[in-house]
Amino acid sequence: MNQDNEKFDVLIVGGGVVGTALLYTLSRYSDIKNICLIEKYSDFGLVNSASYNNSQTLHFGDIETNYSIEKARSVKRMADMVMRYVEQEKDAPGSEKLFSKYSKMVLAVGKEQVEGLRKRYPPFSELFPKLRMIEREEIGRIEPRVLDGRDPDQEILALVTEDGYTIDFKRLCHSFVDNALKKNPLLSINLQTKMLKISKTGDHYTIVTSKGEMKASVVVIAAGGHSLMYAKSLGYGKNLSILSMAGSFYTGPKVLNGKVYTIQQPKLPFAAIHGDPEVHSADVTRFGPTAKPIFQLERHNFPSFREYWKTFGLGLSPVISLSKIIFDRILFAYVFMNFLYDLPYIGRRLFIKEVRKIVPSLKLSELMFARGIGGTRPQIVNNTTRKLELGEARLTGDNIIISITPSPGASTCLGNAYSDASKIVEFLGNKHKFDKEAFEKDLF
Ligand SMILES: Cc1cc2nc3c(=O)[nH]c(=O)nc-3n(C[C@H](O)[C@H](O)[C@H](O)COP(=O)(O)OP(=O)(O)OC[C@H]3O[C@@H](n4cnc5c(N)ncnc54)[C@H](O)[C@@H]3O)c2cc1C
Repeated sequence: MNQDNEKFDVLIVGGGVVGTALLYTLSRYSDIKNICLIEKYSDFGLVNSASYNNSQTLHFGDIETNYSIEKARSVKRMADMVMRYVEQEKDAPGSEKLFSKYSKMVLAVGKEQVEGLRKRYPPFSELFPKLRMIEREEIGRIEPRVLDGRDPDQEILALVTEDGYTIDFKRLCHSFVDNALKKNPLLSINLQTKMLKISKTGDHYTIVTSKGEMKASVVVIAAGGHSLMYAKSLGYGKNLSILSMAGSFYTGPKVLNGKVYTIQQPKLPFAAIHGDPEVHSADVTRFGPTAKPIFQLERHNFPSFREYWKTFGLGLSPVISLSKIIFDRILFAYVFMNFLYDLPYIGRRLFIKEVRKIVPSLKLSELMFARGIGGTRPQIVNNTTRKLELGEARLTGDNIIISITPSPGASTCLGNAYSDASKIVEFLGNKHKFDKEAFEKDLF
């Protein structure tokens, strides 16, 4: 903690993968020295970035069938940065295991899905040269349990790549912090320090924390869904609310060799159900995530119920927007089913129907609800357009960046840190340098 109330150049709120990626980027590639990070918990990456709270997938856009080619191009560029970082760190002395590499496929089942996937392949194969279109026989060679018990007349087709990265994003947070400290041992890193209030006076922000007051010229709030609450207290994002979509998982024994995704519904911003081996244990297959709305900003954190409503906003407008979104025919049916998946007894019996689209012969006794596993995705509701905003939300204000990151925010963490670092240098009056060339040389 900054004892003498010194003013920091940059203060980052939130020690998830977004905040720590920025801490690393600034420390490694800029000459800004006076940087502080505060995190309310006793460790980094304990909320959505924890490996047990997300799907652990480095999303490139190759097997996410709801991404347009433009979106896939942009996500790939950013995911490539994380891929290069973890590959470089793989052999670094003392480095923890950050990732496992498995094959990754998206599986089309039935005539309509098969035709759609065949059409999708040509442009995507240009962007992803390692992506191959494979038929039944090869699918069975790579993933025998995908064919085991399947109706031989059912049409199937898959796109497959060897580049399936399963990442432990919490360990990635630690790696970012450790490497940032190697470059700049004077960084002020404060765990168990919660931001309670933020205000702007003159040329600086005053941040009241659970451990005292701090000042900073530039602030980046990377506090997940909570970011919008603080944004609103500063007058930003007044027309936005959050639809908090919790995701749960089921686990089974080793039935897959790699990641197997199903085809996504274009209207839904949530990853389709998939099965894949755990990042640190290939003997456990994880299926999910489900998606059900909760009125909390943070899963398994009941006080965040009150904060959810604070963030939601007053008046009828957010209620109308949320009702319009939820009562959409497709979304409503989807959300209703997802509610059922979380229920005891009936949930497992319903969810196994989805799982059997991937592994037809999986037995009910093999599928277990993963209790306490799964975070929540802060999807942005725009109360002006009354629509769900797909993708990430970042608000830029007066010397402040506010990041509210739904999925795939972990895959894009370094890409966003790259743009934020440039913006921060600008905020500081271009008195500092962000060495873009070095960043690009290492990570592009
Ligand atoms: C079910 C599910 C599956 C997902 N799957 C994937 C996936 O496969 N691939 C992918 O790329 N992304 C995935 N995501 C999304 C990804 O997990 C998030 O986008 C990412 O972890 C966001 O990182 P973050 O740092 O913004 O948030 P977090 O990791 O939630 O970190 C925010 C931090 O801010 C801290 N904080 C909050 N308030 C305060 C305060 N007042 N003061 C100080 N600190 C505070 C919190 O304690 C927390 O540590 C998934 C998400 C979910 C829920």
